[in-house]
Amino acid sequence: MNELTPYQTIIGLEVHAQLKTDSKLFCGCHWQFGAQPNARTCPLCLGLPGALPVLNRKAVEFAIKLALAVEARIAQRTAFSRKNYFYPDLPKGYQISQFDSPIASSGKLKIRLNSGIKTIHIRRIHLEDDAGKSIHAESWVRENESLIDFNRCGVPLIEIVTEPELSTPGEASRFLQTIRQLLRYLDICDANMEVGNLRCDANISVRPHGGATWPGVKTEVKNMNSFRAVERALAYEQQRQIELLEHGEKILSDTLLWNEKAQVTESMRIKEQAHDYRYFPEPDLPPLKIDTSWLDKIKNEMPELPDARRDRFIRQYKLSRADADLFTATVELADFFEKVVVRIGDVRLVNTWVKTELLRSVNQSADEATPISADAFAELLDFVKQKKITAQSAKIVLVEMLTSEKAVAEIIHDKKLTLLSDANQLGVIVDQAIADNPDAVKHYRSGKRQLLNFFIGQVMKLTRTKADPEAAKKILLEKLDAE
Ligand code: ADP
Ligand code: MG
Ligand code: ZN
Repeated sequence: MNELTPYQTIIGLEVHAQLKTDSKLFCGCHWQFGAQPNARTCPLCLGLPGALPVLNRKAVEFAIKLALAVEARIAQRTAFSRKNYFYPDLPKGYQISQFDSPIASSGKLKIRLNSGIKTIHIRRIHLEDDAGKSIHAESWVRENESLIDFNRCGVPLIEIVTEPELSTPGEASRFLQTIRQLLRYLDICDANMEVGNLRCDANISVRPHGGATWPGVKTEVKNMNSFRAVERALAYEQQRQIELLEHGEKILSDTLLWNEKAQVTESMRIKEQAHDYRYFPEPDLPPLKIDTSWLDKIKNEMPELPDARRDRFIRQYKLSRADADLFTATVELADFFEKVVVRIGDVRLVNTWVKTELLRSVNQSADEATPISADAFAELLDFVKQKKITAQSAKIVLVEMLTSEKAVAEIIHDKKLTLLSDANQLGVIVDQAIADNPDAVKHYRSGKRQLLNFFIGQVMKLTRTKADPEAAKKILLEKLDAE
C-alpha cells in the first residue's frame, strides 16, 4: 500500500520453522519428510497414556541459536504448557507448547527493502511440537475418506511471532525470505515453504491513514505454500478489507484459508472468541534452566551470519554491496565463492565468472548456483587465468561441466579447445587470413593500422576462437609489416 491510498496496512506474522534435529522434540523417533506414513511413531508421539516426554537438548540449542541471531532476550528459566484442542491429527489432544515463559523474547531482524533497511521486532520465539497430517486431497485417497499420517506428530517447531510492523504484502514476503536465509545459515531448518518445513500465518488489518489511531480488526490467513502465495494472499485480503470499509461494512475477526487455485481467501468459520486452549503448565516436564555456561557453549558454535559475512565480503574482497548481497545469499554460494578466490587469487576474475557465467547458466538463482564443485570451477578459471584457453572456450567448457562429470582438462581435450599458440601452425593461419583479404591488407599497409583487430578477428574465426590472441597478434604484425 503506498502513501497515496487512504488506508494503512498492518501485518504481523507467526512463522513456524521445523527444526532439523535427528529426533523429535520429546521422543527418540527419527522423522523424515516423505517417509512411509505412520512408520515413524512411538507410544509417546502417538499420545498413548502413560508415555513420558523427554526434552530434546539439540532442539533447545537450535532455538537459542536463532534467539542469539536476532538479538533476543533469552530466558534463564523457561517452561512448557499444554495447549488443549481437539483435532484428528493431534492424538494427545494437546500440543506441548510454551505460553507465559517462552524461550526468547524481544528480538529484532533487519530486512532489506528497495527503500532501505527496516527493523522488524520479534515479540517472542517459542518451542512446540508439531501435529500430524490429515490427507484428503491426494488423488489416491477415496472420495469421502480422509487418512491420517502421524509421522509429523512431535516434530520440533519454533514459532517466531513478529510485532505488527510490516506494512505491505511485499515486506511480509521479504521478512520470510530473510528468516529463511538466517535459518539456513544457522543450519537449524531446511526452510522450504513448498514442503511445509517453513510455514506462516499472516495477520492483517487496515485502517484509515492518519485517521483513527486504533488498530483495525485483523484477520489471520493460513495455508500459503510459497513467498508468492503469502504476497498474493495478503494483497487479496488487504483489498477485501478496504472494500468492506469503503462500503461502510464491518470487518469480522476471522481465520481464513488461502485457496491457491481460486486465488481467494476463504473463511474457516471459526469464531476467534471460541479459541480457548485452556493452557496449563505441562506436568510431565520440569521447567528448564538455561545457565551461562550452556549459553556460552552455544555462542561459541554460532556461524558467521548473513549480514556479517556480507560486510566482510565488502571489506575483504572490495565487492560492491550488490555483489556481496548476491554472493552471500546462501551459505553454499558464499563458501563456493571464497574457496574459488583462495585458489585463484584474482577476485575480479572470480567475481565476473561467478556472476556473469555461472549464475547466468543456472538462471540467476543463487539457490541453485553451485551445481559444480568449487574445485572444478577453480580449475577452469586457472586455465583462463594462465591463458591456456580463451574466455570463449572456457564458456563452452562450463556449459559441458554443468551436465557432465568430466574433468576440465578432459573436456578441453575432447572438444579440442586447447589454445593454439604454436608459431608454425599460427603462421599458416595468418597467411590464410592475409591471402583472403587483399583489400584490407592494402589499406593496412597504407596506414590504417586499426585494421589489425580485424585480422585478429579473422584468425579467431579461422581457429574457432582457439588462437592465443597475443601470439596471433605478434605473427600478424610480423607478416603485415613485412612488405
Ligand atoms: P492473537 O491473540 O489474536 O493471536 P496477538 O496479539 O497474539 O493476537 O498477535 C498475533 C499476531 O498478530 C502477531 O504476529 C501480531 O503481530 C499480529 N497482530 C496483532 N495485532 C494486529 C493488527 N491489528 N493487525 C495485523 N496484525 C496484528
Ligand atoms: Mg494467533
Ligand atoms: Zn515418537
